[in-house]
Amino acid sequence: MKCNICNSLETTFILRGSDSYMKVDKKNFNIYQCKKCKVTSLQPMPSEKELEKYYPSNYKIFNQNIILNNSNSRNLIKLKNLIIKKLKMNTLERTLEDFSNKEINYLDYGCGSGKNIIQLSLQYPNWKFFGYDKFNQNINDIEKKKNVSFCSSSYLNDIPNDYFDVINLSSVIEHVIGPKDLILFLKKKLSKNGIIIIKTPNFNSLSRRIFGKYWHNLDIPRHLHIFSDNNLEKILYEMEFTKIKIIYARNSGVEVKSLYKFFNLRTRPKIHNILVNSLNPITLILSLLKLSSTFTIIAKKEV
Ligand SMILES: [Zn+2]
Repeated sequence: MKCNICNSLETTFILRGSDSYMKVDKKNFNIYQCKKCKVTSLQPMPSEKELEKYYPSNYKIFNQNIILNNSNSRNLIKLKNLIIKKLKMNTLERTLEDFSNKEINYLDYGCGSGKNIIQLSLQYPNWKFFGYDKFNQNINDIEKKKNVSFCSSSYLNDIPNDYFDVINLSSVIEHVIGPKDLILFLKKKLSKNGIIIIKTPNFNSLSRRIFGKYWHNLDIPRHLHIFSDNNLEKILYEMEFTKIKIIYARNSGVEVKSLYKFFNLRTRPKIHNILVNSLNPITLILSLLKLSSTFTIIAKKEV
């Protein structure tokens, strides 16, 4: 099997599994790991056409955080955020703060409903926000909403190079057949000294090692590639990105969802929040050990 990332012919079989999350069908897919670049991928790679059916309309909704309806968990989250703020632990927020007084162009590639950029636009009113999402059928052309615009792929193609100062890709590259091509395309659209922020599952995580085929972040066959902190960092350096920082997630959502899958349990919103909050101290330790289920990488374009 040929690696889809580095073209190496040396790959190792990892596991075989089907869509256990949305349960669209029972078709089995193989996951291989490349011996050279260490990225794991579905082999053979499904086509765009075949993948369409694995994205039913409720997929995005399923993936959104369950709304808190419990005041105890709300207070716990407030307390956690306060600690993170006091200890200046949120590197991503600190990185964005560097741009706070500038008028910048921010692209959220794979923006879903646009919740993230609409929230950020309240925090940074002098920034211009752009959102693009392949799967959001309601956004066809530009729809102006104060300083937030949603764009189609042709609009994005026509945007001049060096235009965006920040490009965010949250839970996107693992879904893309050609992640390197996408990152290179976005690098062209990024301004000099602009940053790219990529959030993606971590194959090196402890939960992946423990849960194996029950690991929630495998998400067969929607996750076509699973990177790790080390191999994605290496790929970005090869693309001449600089000043790379890695942030390890502190939320235990993936661990809890993997537990459900392992014990074949149904998700129940009220218990879910209690479980997530009670496991958060453990995932805080995992993040310090760089073993979180998800990581965010921030890289700068200097050339
Ligand atoms: Zn490879």
